Amino acid sequence: MNPEANSLRQTILQVTGLTAGYSGIKALRGAALSVSEGEFVALIGPNGAGKSTLLNCLSGVVRPTGGSIRFQGQELLGVAPWHIARRGLLQVPEGRQVLPNLTVRENLTLGATALSGRTPTYTLERINALFPILAERREQRAGSLSGGQQQMLAIGRALMGAPRLLLLDEPSLGLAPVIVTQVFAALRALNSEGLTILLVEQNARQALLATDRAYVIERGCVVHEGRSADLAADPAIVSHYLG
Ligand code: ATP
Repeated sequence: MNPEANSLRQTILQVTGLTAGYSGIKALRGAALSVSEGEFVALIGPNGAGKSTLLNCLSGVVRPTGGSIRFQGQELLGVAPWHIARRGLLQVPEGRQVLPNLTVRENLTLGATALSGRTPTYTLERINALFPILAERREQRAGSLSGGQQQMLAIGRALMGAPRLLLLDEPSLGLAPVIVTQVFAALRALNSEGLTILLVEQNARQALLATDRAYVIERGCVVHEGRSADLAADPAIVSHYLG
């Protein structure tokens, strides 16, 4: 998306001054970012920078200690995770977390529980077209799938809940490069159809290739922001994060 088009779009997510931690560890120290409707945004940074904590604050599974998270104009701080999911802020968690004893079809059906009366935006047919392997394996237990297939299932499960903003935590984790390419191609296709995506990635190079804009987080604070292509061409960013 070009920056002019972006400036005309509504902000869907506005995070300001976000703080969070774990028994004495300050994981977020005033982090701020925003995402507009239709954007594909990356959050990159070194190990332990606070990327997962920030996503988990958005989905409500980590409770922030301060700051603000406005989603579609409404404050999310203090809102329970299941209410956040029902508003269409859906997370594909780190490590997929599919239910291993349920079939592929059952995992997808479970994803639809986040609809809670909202209209579906993705049919099973669309998800099967995006990831044909899920159709082939629909009666197979999710635990018997490969890591890449589980990642596809975790994305499909979130799509069944009609995301207005899709959060992804390290979708490339542990996957072979050829599968990473497939997963990112699917994410780009979803974004080009209008889905808004915020992605956390260790694989900064891949993340900057796929996205429109990116934020760099270090020690709980956002330290850089820009168009992904510009960040990928910035020698300081390359030497610090893409080396
Ligand atoms: P990584 O890519 O390694 O997962 P990250 O950027 O996602 O890193 P976080 O996982 O958000 O970073 O971690 C931020 C800080 O919080 C780190 O110091 C980490 O050790 C700490 N931390 C994260 N989760 C927990 C937890 N459940 N209990 C205690 N400390 C935690």
